[in-house]
Amino acid sequence: MAFSPIHWTGDLDDDCIARWCGLTLRAECMGCNDDDCDGLDTCKPEHGEYWWWEVSARRDGEWITFAGSNGEGVLDNGKSGGASSGQAARVAAENAVRTAIRIRDWFAGAKERANGEYGD
Ligand SMILES: [Zn+2]
Repeated sequence: MAFSPIHWTGDLDDDCIARWCGLTLRAECMGCNDDDCDGLDTCKPEHGEYWWWEVSARRDGEWITFAGSNGEGVLDNGKSGGASSGQAARVAAENAVRTAIRIRDWFAGAKERANGEYGD
Protein backbone atom coordinates (compact mmCIF):
# COMPACT_ATOMS: atom_id res chain seq x y z
CA MET A 1 0.00 0.00 0.00
CA ALA A 2 1.35 3.42 -0.95
CA PHE A 3 1.48 6.25 1.55
CA SER A 4 1.53 9.93 0.68
CA PRO A 5 4.37 11.90 2.29
CA ILE A 6 3.91 13.30 5.78
CA HIS A 7 4.59 17.04 5.98
CA TRP A 8 5.79 18.47 9.28
CA THR A 9 5.18 22.10 10.15
CA GLY A 10 6.47 24.28 12.95
CA ASP A 11 10.05 24.42 14.21
CA LEU A 12 11.78 21.16 13.27
CA ASP A 13 14.52 21.91 15.84
CA ASP A 14 12.14 22.43 18.75
CA ASP A 15 8.44 21.65 18.39
CA CYS A 16 6.67 20.41 15.27
CA ILE A 17 3.41 18.86 14.19
CA ALA A 18 2.01 16.97 11.22
CA ARG A 19 -1.54 15.97 10.36
CA TRP A 20 -2.06 12.94 8.20
CA CYS A 21 -5.06 10.70 7.51
CA GLY A 22 -6.93 12.00 10.55
CA LEU A 23 -3.96 11.43 12.82
CA THR A 24 -1.93 14.10 14.60
CA LEU A 25 1.82 13.57 14.92
CA ARG A 26 3.86 15.67 17.31
CA ALA A 27 7.54 15.88 18.20
CA GLU A 28 8.99 18.22 20.78
CA CYS A 29 12.45 18.76 22.21
CA MET A 30 12.27 18.41 25.99
CA GLY A 31 15.81 19.65 26.57
CA CYS A 32 19.03 18.04 27.69
CA ASN A 33 19.32 14.23 27.77
CA ASP A 34 21.80 14.16 30.70
CA ASP A 35 20.01 13.46 33.98
CA ASP A 36 22.77 15.14 36.00
CA CYS A 37 22.72 18.34 33.98
CA ASP A 38 20.88 21.40 35.22
CA GLY A 39 20.26 22.38 31.61
CA LEU A 40 21.72 25.84 32.15
CA ASP A 41 25.32 27.13 32.00
CA THR A 42 26.94 23.71 32.46
CA CYS A 43 25.01 22.10 29.59
CA LYS A 44 27.19 20.83 26.76
CA PRO A 45 26.26 19.72 23.23
CA GLU A 46 27.57 16.21 23.97
CA HIS A 47 24.79 15.75 26.55
CA GLY A 48 22.43 15.35 23.63
CA GLU A 49 18.75 16.13 23.43
CA TYR A 50 15.67 14.30 24.62
CA TRP A 51 12.72 14.37 22.21
CA TRP A 52 9.15 13.48 23.10
CA TRP A 53 6.85 12.30 20.32
CA GLU A 54 3.26 11.12 20.03
CA VAL A 55 0.68 9.97 17.50
CA SER A 56 -2.92 10.68 18.43
CA ALA A 57 -6.39 11.27 17.01
CA ARG A 58 -9.50 13.02 18.22
CA ARG A 59 -12.56 10.81 18.22
CA ASP A 60 -15.95 11.61 19.80
CA GLY A 61 -14.40 14.62 21.53
CA GLU A 62 -11.64 12.59 23.14
CA TRP A 63 -7.97 12.33 22.31
CA ILE A 64 -6.76 8.79 21.75
CA THR A 65 -3.02 8.23 21.90
CA PHE A 66 -1.95 5.50 19.51
CA ALA A 67 1.72 5.55 20.25
CA GLY A 68 4.29 7.79 21.84
CA SER A 69 7.61 8.04 23.59
CA ASN A 70 5.82 7.89 26.96
CA GLY A 71 4.90 4.30 26.14
CA GLU A 72 1.23 4.80 27.06
CA GLY A 73 -0.44 4.60 23.66
CA VAL A 74 -2.76 1.78 22.67
CA LEU A 75 -0.08 0.37 20.34
CA ASP A 76 2.69 0.73 22.92
CA ASN A 77 4.11 -1.97 25.13
CA GLY A 78 4.38 0.30 28.17
CA LYS A 79 8.06 1.03 27.67
CA SER A 80 8.97 4.66 27.42
CA GLY A 81 11.80 5.93 25.31
CA GLY A 82 12.32 9.30 23.75
CA ALA A 83 14.38 10.03 20.70
CA SER A 84 17.80 11.65 20.65
CA SER A 85 17.05 14.04 17.79
CA GLY A 86 14.14 15.70 16.07
CA GLN A 87 14.73 13.57 13.01
CA ALA A 88 14.65 10.36 15.07
CA ALA A 89 11.48 11.51 16.86
CA ARG A 90 9.74 12.24 13.56
CA VAL A 91 10.78 8.88 12.09
CA ALA A 92 9.48 7.09 15.20
CA ALA A 93 6.13 8.91 14.91
CA GLU A 94 5.87 8.19 11.18
CA ASN A 95 6.58 4.50 11.73
CA ALA A 96 3.89 4.40 14.42
CA VAL A 97 1.43 6.06 12.04
CA ARG A 98 1.98 3.41 9.41
CA THR A 99 1.26 0.71 11.99
CA ALA A 100 -1.84 2.56 13.21
CA ILE A 101 -3.21 2.92 9.67
CA ARG A 102 -2.61 -0.76 8.91
CA ILE A 103 -4.51 -1.75 12.07
CA ARG A 104 -7.33 0.68 11.34
CA ASP A 105 -7.67 -0.67 7.79
CA TRP A 106 -7.54 -4.22 9.03
CA PHE A 107 -10.41 -3.55 11.46
CA ALA A 108 -12.39 -1.80 8.72
CA GLY A 109 -11.83 -4.79 6.46
CA ALA A 110 -12.77 -7.22 9.22
CA LYS A 111 -16.04 -5.35 9.75
CA GLU A 112 -16.85 -5.51 6.04
CA ARG A 113 -15.95 -9.19 5.92
CA ALA A 114 -18.25 -9.80 8.89
CA ASN A 115 -21.02 -7.95 7.08
CA GLY A 116 -20.59 -10.26 4.13
CA GLU A 117 -19.57 -7.59 1.64
CA TYR A 118 -16.61 -9.63 0.55
CA GLY A 119 -18.20 -12.99 1.16
CA ASP A 120 -19.24 -15.45 -1.48
ZN1 LIG B 1 23.04 19.21 29.52
